[in-house]
Amino acid sequence: MIHLQDLSRTYASDEIETTALGGIDLAVEAGEFVAIMGPSGCGKSTLLNIIGTIDRPTDGRYLFEGADIARAPEAELAKLRRDRLGFVFQSFNLIDELTIAENVALGLAYRSMPAREKKDRVAAAMDKVGIAHRARHFPHQLSGGQQQRAAIARAIVGDPKLILADEPTGNLDTDNGAQVMNILTGLNQDGATIVMVTHSPSHADMARRRIEMLDGRIVASTACAI
Ligand code: ADP
Repeated sequence: MIHLQDLSRTYASDEIETTALGGIDLAVEAGEFVAIMGPSGCGKSTLLNIIGTIDRPTDGRYLFEGADIARAPEAELAKLRRDRLGFVFQSFNLIDELTIAENVALGLAYRSMPAREKKDRVAAAMDKVGIAHRARHFPHQLSGGQQQRAAIARAIVGDPKLILADEPTGNLDTDNGAQVMNILTGLNQDGATIVMVTHSPSHADMARRRIEMLDGRIVASTACAI
């Protein structure tokens, strides 16, 4: 599904050039669940952002389902994100002024489908993560764990092939973190490909493969025993 070839990302300012990623080679097949680990500043978020087409590589190739999209027009990438990708962030990123159902519906923004279908999909996504009973609540009325589950519902309501999660359990206590991991594991078993950045070794072990990064490079890739 994803093939990164000799991919790099540098940030240039007047005085210094920072190499966030240097010579990344990575293949992620459809149906995989990959955890990315490594110390702060090693390039994990940059890598996830490039895979999610929110950022672009400075050099190298990014093939998504065979098509080189490293330099694709922004409109094409926006369509790819809308139709194929789902994002989950550490800080949930829900909109405070919208109800949970309205937040989840944002995952279908710019999708043309009958209102009835949108409503059904939103209900099904909320149901899947166990927050249907909070549909009319606002984010601040929910616990952190519930908010992250709502954010996952927003990410999956469009039925994405690839879910990108940047420290999805980073702001959660043990129990809520475990719930979120169980949801992600279930989504993977149902066919979604997942790439997740995490600092938690036990959560990384719930993925099928663990990638270790250091100084903008991948230094190890190991299959997890599950
Ligand atoms: P991680 O997610 O592993 O903590 P990041 O991908 O956020 O690492 O950052 C990798 C490197 O790139 C760091 O040295 C960071 O300072 C640098 N970096 C990230 N974003 C920017 C930016 N917008 N401008 C300049 N340097 C950046």
